[in-house]
Amino acid sequence: MKFGMSYFGNRFIDHARKDMEFLKEIGVSYVVHTFSERDMRFSKRTMKMIFDITHENGMEVWADPWAFGWVFGGEEFSAFLLENRDEWQVTNTGEYSPNACLRSMKFRNLMKEWIDTVKECGADVVLWDEPHFRIPKEDELGKVWTCRCEKCMTEFKAKYGFDMPTEMTEEVMEFRDNTIVEFLKELMDYAKSRGLRNAVCFLPLEGGIVSLRDVEKVVSLDSLDTVGSDPYWFSFERFTGMGRREFVEYWVKKIQKLAMKYGKDTHFWVQAFKVPAGREEELVDGVKQMMDLGVDNVAFWGYRACEPTSFILPDDPEKVWNTVVEIIRRFHS
Ligand SMILES: [Zn+2]
Repeated sequence: MKFGMSYFGNRFIDHARKDMEFLKEIGVSYVVHTFSERDMRFSKRTMKMIFDITHENGMEVWADPWAFGWVFGGEEFSAFLLENRDEWQVTNTGEYSPNACLRSMKFRNLMKEWIDTVKECGADVVLWDEPHFRIPKEDELGKVWTCRCEKCMTEFKAKYGFDMPTEMTEEVMEFRDNTIVEFLKELMDYAKSRGLRNAVCFLPLEGGIVSLRDVEKVVSLDSLDTVGSDPYWFSFERFTGMGRREFVEYWVKKIQKLAMKYGKDTHFWVQAFKVPAGREEELVDGVKQMMDLGVDNVAFWGYRACEPTSFILPDDPEKVWNTVVEIIRRFHS
């Protein structure tokens, strides 16, 4: 099994060198480096050095557009949103929502600039991580959604011949699916043309509430190389109505089936953050279960159990991290 590790919270070169040497030593094959709007604006040369060190240690570099425009996963802020109020998503109730509209050309151009930047820094793979619309608060579920901005309304009317409804109709659902598909297609085609490989990771949620309903439309795209999901059972188990093992199996098999159909690689994530005390051993069982299901790429989020971000820290970070290290040492190929 090949293991990946997300890495964030440090931009000191000497520290990164020690960390990369350690990751190589335990058997990690690829490092997913977060590359946020902040990194693009203020730390480009630093990031290139960190990417170089990763390569020097024989590991592949994946770049993650962390929280860009607040439409990808990540604990980071967005300067694009501060500077471009007109490009925000708009809810069906007429409120601005701090997430970039995926039909915004200005945002798509920023993402292309990001692709150019990570390419110059030496990335091998770009990870389109959890692309989503505005995430509704619990009391808004099924009632409040995006995007009904001027751009989206104009394009909706051009396609369907009538005004975009304020209710979540079949046409709205389809339009939202196509919004994400067209957004990813444009970016992945561009990344491919720059010699990068594309990975997409889908949230393990269905029904089109925060992302698209039909992930197959993305998996079928020619420019996609590896498709994955992050069945984070500690976080999602209360929404799924499934037991832990059932939940993992459901998402692994679903993604594997689609990947097989379109000839793509797969990758899966294991949650090494917000792990409740006493449940650390579930990480071992989760990885073993994935191995039994034929998974060959597993990544952990993230390095040292996400120590820099106390918001998502496990109850016992040291124990979680030691468990992760032990798993990698034991099962890596
Ligand atoms: Zn819009």
